[in-house]
Amino acid sequence: MRILVVGSVALDSVKTPFGEVQEALGGSAVYFSISASYFAPVSLVAVVGQDFPQQHLGLLRARGVDLQGLHQSPGRTFRWHGSYGYDLNEARTLRTELNVFEHFSPSLPGSLRGAQVVFLANIDPELQRRVLQQTNSPRLVAADTMNYWIEHKPRELRETLRLVNILAINEAEARELAQEANLVRAARAIQAMGPQVVVIKRGEYGVLMFNSRSIFSAPAYPLEDIHDPTGAGDTFAGGFLGYLAKARDFSEASMRKALVMGSVMASFAVEGFSVAGIKGLSLKDIEARFQEFKALTHFEAL
Ligand code: AMP
Repeated sequence: MRILVVGSVALDSVKTPFGEVQEALGGSAVYFSISASYFAPVSLVAVVGQDFPQQHLGLLRARGVDLQGLHQSPGRTFRWHGSYGYDLNEARTLRTELNVFEHFSPSLPGSLRGAQVVFLANIDPELQRRVLQQTNSPRLVAADTMNYWIEHKPRELRETLRLVNILAINEAEARELAQEANLVRAARAIQAMGPQVVVIKRGEYGVLMFNSRSIFSAPAYPLEDIHDPTGAGDTFAGGFLGYLAKARDFSEASMRKALVMGSVMASFAVEGFSVAGIKGLSLKDIEARFQEFKALTHFEAL
């Protein structure tokens, strides 16, 4: 099943206690596409400026990502400046420059309208909805968002959420969106906004999935060397939806495996800056880490 993703394509300047990069390839749709491309065909919808380096397009093409929906506009590419302290779960946004995203209104090429899986990666919720409205009844719609949009576009975000099956959101943002400190109650409050499934990303503490009947939990992989958590959430979503699109099965059992696959992909992302940790993986690397997750969480019944 083809996955259509709309989100940011960015040049990120990021500082962590372990190093820093300037204007490196980033953006929610980029991390997502590279990650999902290991499992299913991906079409990316976004905009870049005229300053966007060609070599980044080459990398996406080499991963088989379809760029028909990637517009190039006069102006500067979206830029994000962020930093992390020793608590890598907390990203500090130093500056967000929307640039070409400020006036972006995509018209979806006809060939992309039939995508059966749609991911609305972190970007203006109005833009997320405009893309979704141009698709022909996809089977599965998932979304992500962040504090920037919860604070700047709360009404538009609520409207988008009504159309979404799965929301993947990080812990602090789930609390902020639901205005509820307790995570279980926050997830229930978000389900009442539209998504039947709420996936709460908790950084190094793993991920929780709430559906109407059960809660499922997967740990994060205990890594010794973490360099940059940027993009972990989007890479997670790429593994999660990529797995579901490949399996063509959205049952609960399949979603549980997908949640672990998302965690596997995120564990690779944080090992390097920008997309270094995920751009050159093999299916063998991915399967081996999936097995390690199984061993990590396996226990016998009483
Ligand atoms: P995450 O998976 O949450 O770490 O996502 C990190 C990516 O989100 C970075 O590569 C940024 O370029 C991108 N990003 C940061 N702020 C925004 C925003 N307001 N809208 C869209 N994308 C953003």
